[in-house]
Amino acid sequence: MTPREPRVPGRACALAFLAMCTPLLAADFQAGVARARITPPTPFWMSGYAARTHPSEGVEQELWAKALALRDPGGHQVVLVTTDLIGLPRAISDEVAARVAARFHVERAQLVLSASHTHCGPAVRKNLAVLYDFSEEEKRRVDAYGSELVDRLVEVVGRALEDLAPARLSVGHGAVGFAVNRREPTPEGVKIGVNPNGPVDHDVPVLKVTGKDGSLRAVLFGYACHNTTLGGDFYRIGGDYAGYAQAALEKAHPGATALFVMLCGGDQNPNPRGTLDLAVQHGGALAAEVARVLSATIRPVRPPIRTALETVSLDFAPHTRAVFEEEAKSPDVFRQRRSRLMLAAYDEGKPVRQTPYPVQAIRLGRDLTFLALAGEPVVDYALRLKRELAGENLIVAGYCHDVMCYIPSRRVLLEGGYEAVDNTIYYGQPGPFTETVEDAIMAAVRRATGAVGLKARAASGTGGRP
Ligand SMILES: [Zn+2]
Repeated sequence: MTPREPRVPGRACALAFLAMCTPLLAADFQAGVARARITPPTPFWMSGYAARTHPSEGVEQELWAKALALRDPGGHQVVLVTTDLIGLPRAISDEVAARVAARFHVERAQLVLSASHTHCGPAVRKNLAVLYDFSEEEKRRVDAYGSELVDRLVEVVGRALEDLAPARLSVGHGAVGFAVNRREPTPEGVKIGVNPNGPVDHDVPVLKVTGKDGSLRAVLFGYACHNTTLGGDFYRIGGDYAGYAQAALEKAHPGATALFVMLCGGDQNPNPRGTLDLAVQHGGALAAEVARVLSATIRPVRPPIRTALETVSLDFAPHTRAVFEEEAKSPDVFRQRRSRLMLAAYDEGKPVRQTPYPVQAIRLGRDLTFLALAGEPVVDYALRLKRELAGENLIVAGYCHDVMCYIPSRRVLLEGGYEAVDNTIYYGQPGPFTETVEDAIMAAVRRATGAVGLKARAASGTGGRP
């Protein structure tokens, strides 16, 4: 199953060639932006921490879905949607994509649906369902929010397309240092803590979108770090550091839309963390760095737009029904719920053996490639891709299309710990992936990048292989 957009047709190639020869035309994208408020009605069950015992107690910060639509002179387009949410499950992304394709003729490969992974957002239907034991009324409210969310996401894509107007794009990079590797080695194995010696990616990619008059219309920026400055004891809805970074940039640039993209931060936490002041502080540091890059001379981005989407199946390690019959007796309520899901799948004759995994590549001229990975990829993926695609201007996002569980590299899988094994309890998955997970994803990335005209230089692992 490899749904792939047709290669760029001849007319677009001619335009792209023309664009390379004529600098004035070179920046001639059309860009459109839109936003929709997606703050849930409060009180509402929040997502991200299993330890929370009751719904939200108010709103610290509004949550937003934002869309940036781009179209090149050949008519190729892409719409990037960001959300202040824990993650979008496949059921919601599929529904949005189908409605967007039918109404606006934007294909699946041309649509990015991403989530900031804020742990102060609402429960999103089917995502991390094992965290909850909803009453009928709570279930009805979460379902209603999910349906409303689909409507808002479709609507925001449509409004961004309506907003298309001549624009210039440029890209630059900065760095901030508050992300730390959280996989702390202990005598009992890898625990979630602070590991100053673990790999990090402090890159802050910045895509600047200006109007014909040079004014800032949108800025899309990313960082590889969990939106978990605030802990499970915080009960107010908000966007964590990414929410504060976006708000600070929009305040500094009235009329502009700031869109945060979560990168490969599966094993990265803010440091220090635990208070609202720190969330504001980290958001401010990120916004200040984005502002610095915006004011610097940064690289122009030219057409054409090329897009590709590949979907692979990732294999879970073999399991038997007996494993979950045993787990059902566990005193841990989350293990009980996971085992019930797995036993129900066995009862239906469809034990969960694999998960589909989408990988998307978007290339703008020869100036920028945006890779949209699903799930919660650990930082090893971004670091490896930056090595293998050295020379290409890369943004490697995670948390796109479907957040079905963490995505460990082979190194992290072999080391074990939360990102390798335990997260699958809360995500309602049967257990860890097989050791082929990284190879399968990298092969899909190579197919997607190849389809947009980008070739990897050499294969290499994420390090730490025996
Ligand atoms: Zn996470």
